[in-house]
Amino acid sequence: MSSERRYLLERVDDVAVVQLYADGFASLSLREKTLAWHLYLAALAGRDIYYDQRHALGLDMRAVLEAIVTHPNGVDPKVLHEVRRYTKLFWINSGPYNNITARKFVLRLTRHELFDAAQAAARNGATLGRRPSESVERLIDRLAPMFLDASVDPTVTSKTPGLGRDILTASSNNLYSGVTATQLETFTERYGLNSRLTADNGRLVEEVYRTGGRYDQEIRRIIGHLRAAIPFATPSMSEALRALIQFYETGEDADRIAYDIAWVRDQESPVDTINGFVEVYMDPRGVKGAWEGIVSYVNETKTRDIQALAANAQWFEDRMPWDPRFRKPDVAGVTARAIEVIVETGDSGPLTAVGINLPNDQAIREKYGSKSVSLANVSDAYERSTPEAMRVEFSWSGEEADRAKKWGGFAQELTTAMHEVIGHGSGRMAPGVTEPPHRLLGEQYSSVEEARADLVALYFLPDAKLVELGIVPGDHHHEIVATEYEYYVRNALVQLRRVREGTHIEEDHMRNRQMIVNWLLAHTSAVEVRRRDGHTYYVMVNATAFREGVGRLLAEVQRIKGEGDAAAARDLFETYGVHFDPALRDEIVVRVDRLQLPSYTGFVMPRLETRRDDAGAIVDVEISYPCDLETQMLEYSAFARRDDVLEPPSAAR
Ligand SMILES: [Zn+2]
Repeated sequence: MSSERRYLLERVDDVAVVQLYADGFASLSLREKTLAWHLYLAALAGRDIYYDQRHALGLDMRAVLEAIVTHPNGVDPKVLHEVRRYTKLFWINSGPYNNITARKFVLRLTRHELFDAAQAAARNGATLGRRPSESVERLIDRLAPMFLDASVDPTVTSKTPGLGRDILTASSNNLYSGVTATQLETFTERYGLNSRLTADNGRLVEEVYRTGGRYDQEIRRIIGHLRAAIPFATPSMSEALRALIQFYETGEDADRIAYDIAWVRDQESPVDTINGFVEVYMDPRGVKGAWEGIVSYVNETKTRDIQALAANAQWFEDRMPWDPRFRKPDVAGVTARAIEVIVETGDSGPLTAVGINLPNDQAIREKYGSKSVSLANVSDAYERSTPEAMRVEFSWSGEEADRAKKWGGFAQELTTAMHEVIGHGSGRMAPGVTEPPHRLLGEQYSSVEEARADLVALYFLPDAKLVELGIVPGDHHHEIVATEYEYYVRNALVQLRRVREGTHIEEDHMRNRQMIVNWLLAHTSAVEVRRRDGHTYYVMVNATAFREGVGRLLAEVQRIKGEGDAAAARDLFETYGVHFDPALRDEIVVRVDRLQLPSYTGFVMPRLETRRDDAGAIVDVEISYPCDLETQMLEYSAFARRDDVLEPPSAAR
């Protein structure tokens, strides 16, 4: 069956568009499928929140693009072709910013061409999302700088804007409006995670994300679908869903904590969801949560391996290569699963992670543990859509390329699982340090934490314990370790293709991977830089030295987190993780482009549909695969305009 399947659907510039499959869905019970259906609708209902968070004009821009794409009669074919290219990138990135470089990409048209296309769409009956009594002329005047001018609002998140510049005003997202980081030094936020901060005549105002507050309409629709899901949920999941609704209604941190705890405690439900303001990467301060919606179910087979890791979390914790004062005496409830994604929206899709560990609240993790998942069908689709040339081009030897082909998928999935299960869940703060680490480390926090989790995985990968647990075949252990270490150092080169402009890296995972490899290059004999035919290679030459170096670096990274040593964090990343040589990047870009290798991947999600009996009751939920980005994105946007499941407007606060 898989041989006929289409994974790679199309290429848009340097992006691969890939279909995601969720094979096990059909064998879930009707009750589980129905639960998934309602959660799926809740995930779609919040999608527009994220567009608005990315940029204040994101939804207005999308409305114009979708109007032209769906009402193309009379639009110049060359203009239409360019609009469709740009629109696909816009959908994949949920707005006008490249999700990896944080930089704006633009529509390669003149203002006049854009206006003509919009005018044609209007003649064909499209509303273009105009404000009341706004002419097409005025609309295009308002949006043209965002569409056409790369220098207007150029960066969505700027954690290192340069000396004397403010991280908030240098960032063009909509988490803040007219607020500077300096102003915040004397202001205590009550709704850190879930508010937009605006300055009203110099007075700071928190616009809270909740019913009756900002995103009222989207949140009421989410709540409506969550309520509809509750009758089909297990008892502990019902409790979590009720707590989530309560948090959406009040926006209060106490309710967010109650929800996080209820969500972590729900361990038995095969179907699960993440729905809310979660990851803080978009905020240069690392405080405000970007909205995301994920619905998934457990992959039982792959989960068995991961649970073996989780069950032994204490064994690994006791052997962490860091100062014993940072070791947790009792690692609580790390649950780990392999899941199959049904849908990811907002911050989690069409661009997706391959592993997730939540909640982010350090205090809850220490006391109640965390849930950790690897996204099995996402990893699988990545692997099946990766061109062979990607492995060959950057491998120094044929043996390295062969190993990558044979063990690459396995090694990366295992490393991801270890990153999530024994990485993020591990370690504790130094005695006496009470401030949470993200406050102490500020904009360095996410990079430090990702580095820590990667290093834990790399450190324990060669450990015989993995063979003992039956996770790794003993005969191939060395080969698997070599495959992963080789992949890891190659990646530091290959990932530079994603940052086509500028000379520094913004994205946290990329920073951490760059930092680790450059640090190993500087401090160990594990990696060599070699050149052949004008091409640069990073070659892993000594796995023992690699592991030893990783252990030393991990001890320091844990110390930085545990003591909240922001100066050391900045120094480490400024030296090894943030800056790169543009000549090297240019070389990589040429090699990648010659082979037409993608820089990143956007996923088309599975689609759910209900079958109902004459009385309207759901008798089955069917899954299908649209295999077309445009069809799916237009369907999602149309869904956001439907108003069938609105909760009644809440009383004014
Ligand atoms: Zn991570």
